[in-house]
Amino acid sequence: MTARTPLIAGNWKMHKTGDEAGDTAADLARRIAGVTGREVMIAPPFTALAAVKIAIAGSIIGLGGQNLHWESSGAFTGEISGPMLTAAGCTHVIIGHSERRQFFGETDETVNKKIQAARAANLVPVMCIGETEAQREAEQTFSVLDKQIRNGLQGFALQDISDLVLAYEPVWAIGTGKTASREQAQEAHAFIRSVVEKLFGGPAAAAMRILYGGSVKPSNIADLMAMDDIDGALVGGASLEAATFADIVTY
Ligand code: PGA
Repeated sequence: MTARTPLIAGNWKMHKTGDEAGDTAADLARRIAGVTGREVMIAPPFTALAAVKIAIAGSIIGLGGQNLHWESSGAFTGEISGPMLTAAGCTHVIIGHSERRQFFGETDETVNKKIQAARAANLVPVMCIGETEAQREAEQTFSVLDKQIRNGLQGFALQDISDLVLAYEPVWAIGTGKTASREQAQEAHAFIRSVVEKLFGGPAAAAMRILYGGSVKPSNIADLMAMDDIDGALVGGASLEAATFADIVTY
């Protein structure tokens, strides 16, 4: 099996001012200094990118945007582009988070355009997929994931997805305290990898990192990470406090 370096990513959503984010990031950097064998990324609000960039300098922590527009510049009031994120020090960008799909009209088509924009700006796209509770109950989990992956990655060649990260986030587990069991997560991750294999071949599927997200915390991270196809985590609530997130990073 291809060795996949675990990636533990924190999604700070609409939390923290620049000062607060800088303090938390500096605290986290101190706590995980010397940690090796994994990648860490935090995605603060846009207004905190500059402060976090300074706070994480010289650490293993990478910087991520939570969203981007697919155009590189133009008359798009309120939007932020890929080149702007890169210039602000970002290495990663979260794309298609379920909150954006639910509240801001994100679709598989916009996800597809945003991944292209991220690639053009040299950002690692962290593409989020996942089923709602109703879809899981209707036994549509696999068909929903299949569609999100196929449409999100439509038209891409092997080189377009070489550094892409997928994040499986069952919508019913986000911010609810309800984590998917590690068996449920593993089942979904193995399915996701099989779809990537069909589309892009075995080596690409074996190399792709698939993160789990949805109520990850210090008490469940090790169990999740023990599963074959879980290569990291996208952490919301439990990433907001440095001590808690450091415990997750060092699971
Ligand atoms: P949560 O959020 O860890 O608070 O459930 C995860 C996410 O939305 O990325």
